Amino acid sequence: MSPAVTTRRPARSKAATRPGRTTRRRVLRVDHNKRWRPRSRRGGTCGYTLDRKTCAKRGAHYCEPRADKVVKFFAELLIHPAGALANTKFVLAPWQEHEIIRPLFGEVHWSEQWGRYVRRYTRATVVMARKNGKSALLSGIALYMLCSDGEESAEVYGAAANTRQAGKVFEPATKMVKKSPILAKRLKHIRNARRLVDEKTSSHYEIIPADADNELGHSPHCFILDEVLSQPDDSLWKAMVTGAGARTQPLMLAITTETTAHASFGADMIDEADRVMEDPARAPHHFAYVRKMPKDVEELERLWRLFPARPELPVSIDPWDERNWAWANPALGSFLSIQALREDALEARTDRSKENGFRQFRLNQRVSQVSRWISMDLWNARVGEVAPTPDWIRGRLKGERCWGGLDLSSKLDLTSLALVFPDGSVLWRFWLPESVIPTLDEHTNGRISEWVADGWITATDGDTIDYDRIYDDVTADHKDFRIVDITYDKWSGEPVRQEIVKRTRLKMVESDTTFLRMTGPMQEFMRRLKAADEFQHFGNPVATWMADNVEKKSPRDDPDRLRPVKPDRDKTGIRIDGIPAVLFALDGALRGMPKPSVYESQGMALNS
Ligand SMILES: [Zn+2]
Repeated sequence: MSPAVTTRRPARSKAATRPGRTTRRRVLRVDHNKRWRPRSRRGGTCGYTLDRKTCAKRGAHYCEPRADKVVKFFAELLIHPAGALANTKFVLAPWQEHEIIRPLFGEVHWSEQWGRYVRRYTRATVVMARKNGKSALLSGIALYMLCSDGEESAEVYGAAANTRQAGKVFEPATKMVKKSPILAKRLKHIRNARRLVDEKTSSHYEIIPADADNELGHSPHCFILDEVLSQPDDSLWKAMVTGAGARTQPLMLAITTETTAHASFGADMIDEADRVMEDPARAPHHFAYVRKMPKDVEELERLWRLFPARPELPVSIDPWDERNWAWANPALGSFLSIQALREDALEARTDRSKENGFRQFRLNQRVSQVSRWISMDLWNARVGEVAPTPDWIRGRLKGERCWGGLDLSSKLDLTSLALVFPDGSVLWRFWLPESVIPTLDEHTNGRISEWVADGWITATDGDTIDYDRIYDDVTADHKDFRIVDITYDKWSGEPVRQEIVKRTRLKMVESDTTFLRMTGPMQEFMRRLKAADEFQHFGNPVATWMADNVEKKSPRDDPDRLRPVKPDRDKTGIRIDGIPAVLFALDGALRGMPKPSVYESQGMALNS
């Protein structure tokens, strides 16, 4: 834990900190109507009825009878196939019911295309530690989607790594069917094909291995990906998502434990779910339930912000403290025994080779040196006033003192200058050779062109950066603001430095992106982001995109040292340059402002 970071824990009830609380059954009070949803009044009165309960809501809403239907399907038709609860009715644990099933199946919105209410969530990512009843829950959802979701010719698919694995994934569902008198009568198990068939609705459920040919024109109503680790890449997932296009209310569901490969399809998927949890408006169709034991103080504080007053939240980042286990293990207190976790923890503590396994599988941590850095809920809270144009910001800050940070990536790519002002305002400039725009547009949905048109990025003619334009702009900034100094990356900027100094006489300070030079500015950046009024970015869309992309890296065994990194994957479409630029500028701010003379600051006359 870094001593520079002050942490404040939210108030907790006495009951929450009493030892042994994790073994007791939690009471979950959830007001489903309060969940975030897009504001929409489209559609008439819902009118959905189940057991004489009729929904009278309209627009995007939580539809209780629809959620009831799924909860009842589990309780009335399904029998636990294995484990501590084997052969008992599948009554969902409170967290399964209220935090996953009810929102996932109960949130609906009006579809113009289909002329009726449909489920809002077409995509779901559930991330939790192993042994929290993942397989049974998945099997139950698959069976519901197969025969009870009102879909004719429903195609339900489960994914597996290979053919051998496919049998294992399929097994719990077939056991459930066998144990349930009603389902056993209705569904046919075609053994050789690993397929369950519902003749009444001409629907089927089958497992497909990632190594099979998946261009077979599937039209999934539901696709279930158990463990993203089982997939070598995103091809099966993409094929399924594309295939679901014609369905009214498809569901693409991934349930997984963390992965160790930070640059992988699985990691991307988990990171995206994390972002949606921070900001649900980012993807209103995406349901995210992510329960990970935080790796550092920033992640811990993020949880305290996002889930205020939840008693099962970790109290620290100590992996051996039992109070920190419940968050990643929601089944603790229902069907997961704390004893098993204690035994694993004991072994992992005495045998370092087992520690990573414990962290990954039991605490659901990504055991890697790289992770996402800036939590978007924090970033979005520091917009300040939304700037209509970059010039609006310039006008507002004119004449003020500031520190500059210059990140020159290469002459073929993006270059960024950040100016940080004493009140925490940040003003960026971005320059980009015009020839790079089409590639970046492809990966950003055309946003780069929009940002160029709106003046957030300056596009220069040709294939390489137009340095003259950079010099002119820096010179203009030098006139508009009182730049104390500009910190720049010594590995890429020497000729540029010379030219800027020649034209402006500005002081240029060398830096680089090593742990040594970046740890201080990164801690300062985070400190300012957490403080209420020491950072504001005015909603700069380019910087926001970059903040969302940037990752942090720490040396093994030293999480307190940091440097920013660009994600390994999908390099062609991702940029982070605006963030190192701010970090360079903060390096300047940390060196401090030259003390103004008392004559200047207090208006003293020289000869009084
Ligand atoms: Zn309703």
